[in-house]
Amino acid sequence: MQAFPSPVWHATEPGMILAELKSDAVAGLSSEAAAERLRQSGPNELPEEKPKALWRVFAAQFASPLIYLLFVAAMISLAMGHASDAAVILVVVLINALIGAVQEGRAEHSMTALRRLSAVKVRVVRDGREAIIEARELVAGDILLLSAGDQVGADARLLEAAALEATEAALTGESLPVLKNIEAVDAEAGLGDRRNMIYSGTHLTAGRGRAVVVATGLQTEVGKIASLTATAEEPKTPLETRLRHFGNWLVGASMALFVLIIGFGLLREIPFVSIFMVAISQMVSVVPEGLPVAMTIALAVGMQRMARRGAIVRRLAAVETLGATSIICSDKTGTLTKNEMTVTRLLLPSGLQVEVTGAGYSPEGKLLAEGRELTAQDDASLRALLEAIVLCNDANLVPPEAEEAHWRPLGDPTEAALLTVALKGCVEPETLRREWPRRAEIPFDSSLKMMATQHGHGGKCRVLFKGAPEKLLALCDGATLDAAGVHETSEKLAARALRVLAVAEVNDAPLDEEAGFEPWRGRLRFLGLLGQMDPPREEVKTAVAECVAAGIRPVMVTGDHKATGLAIATELGIAKPGDIAVDSAELKAMPEEELSASLERISVFARVQPEQKLRIVKAFQAKGQVVAMTGDGVNDAPALAAADVGVAMGITGTEVAKGAAKIVITDDNFATIVKAIEEGRLVYQNLKKVVLFLFATSIDEVSVLLLALLCGYPLPLAAVQILWINIVTEGMVTVNLILEGLEGDEMRRRPTPVNEPLFTRPMLERLLLMVSTSVAAVFGFFLWRQASGAPFALVQTETFTLIAVTQWFNVLNCRSATQSALSLDVLRNRWLAGGLILGNALHLLVIYTAPMNRIFHTVPIPLADVAILGVIGSSVLWIEEIRKWLVRRRIQGAGSARSMTSA
Ligand code: ATP
Repeated sequence: MQAFPSPVWHATEPGMILAELKSDAVAGLSSEAAAERLRQSGPNELPEEKPKALWRVFAAQFASPLIYLLFVAAMISLAMGHASDAAVILVVVLINALIGAVQEGRAEHSMTALRRLSAVKVRVVRDGREAIIEARELVAGDILLLSAGDQVGADARLLEAAALEATEAALTGESLPVLKNIEAVDAEAGLGDRRNMIYSGTHLTAGRGRAVVVATGLQTEVGKIASLTATAEEPKTPLETRLRHFGNWLVGASMALFVLIIGFGLLREIPFVSIFMVAISQMVSVVPEGLPVAMTIALAVGMQRMARRGAIVRRLAAVETLGATSIICSDKTGTLTKNEMTVTRLLLPSGLQVEVTGAGYSPEGKLLAEGRELTAQDDASLRALLEAIVLCNDANLVPPEAEEAHWRPLGDPTEAALLTVALKGCVEPETLRREWPRRAEIPFDSSLKMMATQHGHGGKCRVLFKGAPEKLLALCDGATLDAAGVHETSEKLAARALRVLAVAEVNDAPLDEEAGFEPWRGRLRFLGLLGQMDPPREEVKTAVAECVAAGIRPVMVTGDHKATGLAIATELGIAKPGDIAVDSAELKAMPEEELSASLERISVFARVQPEQKLRIVKAFQAKGQVVAMTGDGVNDAPALAAADVGVAMGITGTEVAKGAAKIVITDDNFATIVKAIEEGRLVYQNLKKVVLFLFATSIDEVSVLLLALLCGYPLPLAAVQILWINIVTEGMVTVNLILEGLEGDEMRRRPTPVNEPLFTRPMLERLLLMVSTSVAAVFGFFLWRQASGAPFALVQTETFTLIAVTQWFNVLNCRSATQSALSLDVLRNRWLAGGLILGNALHLLVIYTAPMNRIFHTVPIPLADVAILGVIGSSVLWIEEIRKWLVRRRIQGAGSARSMTSA
């Protein structure tokens, strides 16, 4: 509901709208008014599908062929007069559904919480100050501050628009961006013609602006069309699909097994009811019912761990693709570097170089030339340069609010640093900006790498330009500068890892926003160059080294100059000796084959145009690489979407980039991407542990049963015992194995090829070893106990228990492929420890309580036998320990952890 009647907003003048909505274009709403309106109108969101109720999740657990089969088995046992077997089957099915529902509910819950983290943010003015809030908190009357890349959070009437363009395809079907303005239009104008309005759910592709919110939530145009947006179901990830196919294959295999067991049983003249029940239970044991839930949890837990380390996953598939990433194409500014700019050098048109002292945004420091201090008062050319960089600038500097605090940049750090140097040179930004108000502008654009502003004062007009030197110098009047000298200085500054800006001016003509920069060619007067230092982030050097050890290649893709990029890449270890940097023009001229052949050596792509990022992604992908690509601007969206893992920046990233990316890193830091990769690898590694465990235990049981049948022995396990082991003993630990933490060597392995089979050779070898040990132990024990003449019920109970014991040891084995189970603290994975304790307790209940004895056909086991079972069962642990020891020795022998198997 909206608190205000709606006049025809697009046909009304802004002043009247502001009066109507009781808002102010400059100061915005007060927080109290906004809170009150939010209370009245409700949050600015469209109703979403409610999360599934727990009982629904529970009910869904029964919808599986496996469960139908168990129901049939229960009915048959009931019909044959085995009521207790039927009851057991039903109870086991119930427990299975409960475990499944609880786990799934947990996964669902954490995913919903995580989805909230990627909520759309908007910039508004509240209480006269700029603030960033969630789009759901917007109310009518809020003043929106708009820039390229924003997602529009609500319907709003424009108050200011500087070259503002919006893509409204979602609403009007028009795929080309629409240029916006503030003129009122006819009341009858259709949505697409209301140039003075912006609509919720659309995107801004260029320019800047300011608007007042007129409708939120269901009152917006998009809200009117779709009063209910169904939350799109997350598509299955490649690994999920592979697991599903694998599962289907296993269902087929289990059916074949069913026929086989019935056949053998009848040949051995075992009563049909018994063999039928065993065959059904066995079928159940082969189908890894825990796997789909384990997969969901693995991804959800992976997402959670990544979020804790600063990476928010927007597409589930990214969790596993991250683990397979082999190339990271990273932006430079802010991601590899701190984005804390300090101007350290100036070049004046006369060729005079000025050194700037001091660091950070604090204006403490001096401008020194030829050994003496220089200020704007002493030198007209310096004054012109400093004034230009203050006016052609959208940033602000905030003085320290407390004693310990520092000066803070507000807006683009590149621009804030210019204010610092102006202050050092005695130019006062606030006074100057009041004196020369801005009349027009061409906002900074990362494709053109320049911007321009026009300022007026008492009939005078001043048009100021700043941007990448080679772009801006191309527009300058050759007579005003020594082009060769300036280029040379610019290159020298760049080679010292400085970010270089050129500045120029024109005094005699106004800026035509729509005509762009072309009309100015040859007309600008050069005012000078500035070199800014942006120190690399300390943690990045380590992260780069970690990548290299993990077989991942970092590559810099920057909008900055080639020499600046290469200098920083070399310092960080991204560029090795012999590596090269390629700039936009060189890349453009490079045919596909040449690019493909040179990729190995190119560590820096410089002055990159956003659309070239897509080409870089594709070139790497064509070579079979799994590419992560970072981006923040609107134009980065196609490359982010095409990359295997598109990584958007949480702080500087536009909403459009975030929407196209698969993960968002909250601190814009390269090191965070590396941490996310580590977590991605862990997810895959843990899933493999679960797969190994599930298979080892299923094959164990089937093998023991088939061997007994083949050799003419009675059935070593009762049907209900098989079910118990499968669903209760196994269910207690399988999913908990997913929660294993990092082993520490994840980043010393090669990336996993995306299409690597689920069972690699080392894993198959391990499976074979584990299965043969436990089958030998269990079947050997069974033969021995049979021969010893023990009562059959005891033999069966002991065999049943031994299988459970071997499973418990096996789950400890599966915690690591190389590290000793004894060296891994069991309590580190509290879920697993809990599962083991609970599993043991329940097993004791089945053996030592009379009612359970009746139901499960068990008898109490003498304590001495329990000890023997423990010793025999532990053989699976010792054999694995020996294998792991041999593997560790081999790795040490090879002198490198690289040859480590990833089984
Ligand atoms: P990266 O893509 O690695 O983050 P970047 O931030 O240097 O690199 P851009 O922001 O596209 O990339 O900047 C490219 C060039 O444009 C800079 O080297 C600089 O010369 C110029 N530039 C950057 N910011 C501004 C600005 N606010 N005004 C004018 N020119 C700018």
